[in-house]
Amino acid sequence: MAREQTFSIIKPDATRRNLTGKINAMLEDAGLRIVAQKRIHMSQAQAESFYGVHRERPFFGSLVEFMTSGPVVVQVLEGENAVLKNREVMGATNPEQADEGTIRKAFAESIEANSVHGSDSPENAVIEIAYFFSGTEIVG
Ligand code: ADP
Ligand code: MG
Repeated sequence: MAREQTFSIIKPDATRRNLTGKINAMLEDAGLRIVAQKRIHMSQAQAESFYGVHRERPFFGSLVEFMTSGPVVVQVLEGENAVLKNREVMGATNPEQADEGTIRKAFAESIEANSVHGSDSPENAVIEIAYFFSGTEIVG
């Protein structure tokens, strides 16, 4: 399997609780390499566009409000099967259903404030990475 990249966000509930380092350690322990990373405060327009696929969902407005409520850390992660590997270490969307040893089991506050985002496919990873990073910012 070729090396792959995925897009990750450490969400505002986690940056607020100073968990960036603990989450990065779990990503690295899972075999993922952080090849790009920056701390940003998403604008409403950025959050609405990034989560555009969920525009019709009842939680969309609340999700955008949450994602713009504080700083986030956007990242590119690289490794074998990076997309799937990251989804595994993240755990289920709803922390009540997340497995032991996952980031969301350890840290998520709720189904919305669930500490991390991860791309759900290699195709979406390419789109999401390009949304936040230029090629020269990614150093493998
Ligand atoms: P995931 O982040 O696991 O890929 P989704 O893509 O389905 O999950 O949803 C995107 C984000 O929207 C979730 O991570 C979470 O922050 C929020 N979300 C999802 N479902 C709900 C819900 N039922 N109520 C509130 N927020 C939700
Ligand atoms: Mg998703």
